[in-house]
Amino acid sequence: VSRVIPVDTFDLVIFGGTGDLARRKILPGLYRRFTGGQMPPDSRIIAAARSEMDDTAYRAQVRAALEEFVPAGKRDEAGVAGFLERIHYVAIDATGTSGWADLKKMMRPDVVRAFYFSVAPSLFGALAERLHERGIAGPQSRIVVEKPFGRDLESARALNRVLALHFAEEQIYRIDHYLGKETVQNLMAVRFANILFEPLWKAQYIDHVQITVAETVGVGGRGAYYDTSGAMRDMVQNHLMQLLCLIAMEPPYHFDPNAVRDEKLKVIRALDPVPPEDIVRGQYLAGGGQESYVDHAGNPRSRTESYIALKVHIANWRWKGTPFYLRTGKRLRARASEIAITFREPPHSIFDDAEDWRENVLVIRLQPDEGINLKVMIKEPGPGGMRLTQVPLDMSFAEALGPDGEDIPDAYERLIMDVIRGNQTLFMRGDEVEAAWAWADPIIAAWERRGDRPKTYEPGTSGPEDALMLMHRDGRRWREIR
Ligand code: NAD
Repeated sequence: VSRVIPVDTFDLVIFGGTGDLARRKILPGLYRRFTGGQMPPDSRIIAAARSEMDDTAYRAQVRAALEEFVPAGKRDEAGVAGFLERIHYVAIDATGTSGWADLKKMMRPDVVRAFYFSVAPSLFGALAERLHERGIAGPQSRIVVEKPFGRDLESARALNRVLALHFAEEQIYRIDHYLGKETVQNLMAVRFANILFEPLWKAQYIDHVQITVAETVGVGGRGAYYDTSGAMRDMVQNHLMQLLCLIAMEPPYHFDPNAVRDEKLKVIRALDPVPPEDIVRGQYLAGGGQESYVDHAGNPRSRTESYIALKVHIANWRWKGTPFYLRTGKRLRARASEIAITFREPPHSIFDDAEDWRENVLVIRLQPDEGINLKVMIKEPGPGGMRLTQVPLDMSFAEALGPDGEDIPDAYERLIMDVIRGNQTLFMRGDEVEAAWAWADPIIAAWERRGDRPKTYEPGTSGPEDALMLMHRDGRRWREIR
């Protein structure tokens, strides 16, 4: 079923190769690409991190990570052994001099070179400088940078500036793993490869859009860090914003990195400022055997939000009059990410049972169970007369791929392969990130200036009560989180 598009032979350096992200996402993702036959046999993964160890010791760590994060049914000894042979380790100090000569010696001149910065953003500048000045990275090399990309416009600009000293924009891959999800790309296929949707894709026919990213986990062990960020910075400015852009953008003239990113940028620039009455922020209370947000944050006076809901307007011809409701939070009822596009009612009903009537909704589900689902009205089957009922037209990818077919690639594995291929379409451009901060900054500044306190909410619910009002007020309601 699957068509694996081979990539060129590469040397991929993972700075922070002993870190949490490398263990949970990057290495398991690469393992699946290796066993999926996409990683050319002479490609190598070179982990670079602070601890002193040799290849053997590092490979043992990778084996443990695969055992923990790749399900037993999806790995076998031959695959693991073959993968580990592709892996090397260099001890390096990002801000010092040790290890850099070793790394340089290891890099091969005639293969794709990519450098994944899976370290704290405060080290990005030092890494970029050393890679460039020591001639380890050349004009064809690529760097991949993780989130967070700044905490406001000023810091994002500073980060862009320091990277630009050493790398061209075409070499910089800013990861937003939401863009690597199968369904998110399918959203673009559904929109731009069918005639059905695009004519209706405007305020005239779409009542509103809901984007939900709900998590069940709290901020737990990273509470102290999270408390300096919050849901707006951690989730809305990047992930929810990217999803909003893909729904709202004009058709790009070609599915090409800059054409797509130009259209996304126009959407961000068209966003209206959000007034305080269109924002609800929340903090979870203790419950279910877990501490409250402020306890996790270690800060009883914290004003940082673990939940946010907001109503956003896009001021352009296509979207004038169609609000986008965004919400994201921790310790909610279920782990669920989805985009729901609710169409308007038909202009006139010819049927009597108007109370059974429901709007068409296009639901794009990102997790769990990736898939797209269109709710349409039909006649209730059977002899009951002309009664209406709503049924889903379901496009579930697991089924489309066949019962024992290929798994849907994880976002990280797909994005890393895009880096090797040199395709930036699913990565954020520097100006996009800055524009998103330019929109978010005044919103954050306003609540900080007023000293607003987030509302509290019970864990295991759908968030603060006030968030319900944000919708009710407009005669609408949130979809259930499940
Ligand atoms: P981590 O703290 O678990 O790992 C940090 C890594 O950086 C370690 O391998 C460490 O050896 C290395 N390191 C630290 N200082 C160094 C130095 N001076 N020289 C060389 N190496 C050094 O961090 P993480 O959770 O893996 O996160 C890495 C990056 O990914 C961060 O930017 C983070 O914001 C981002 N990120 C992480 C997650 C996640 O789920 N962990 C999710 C999204 C984004």
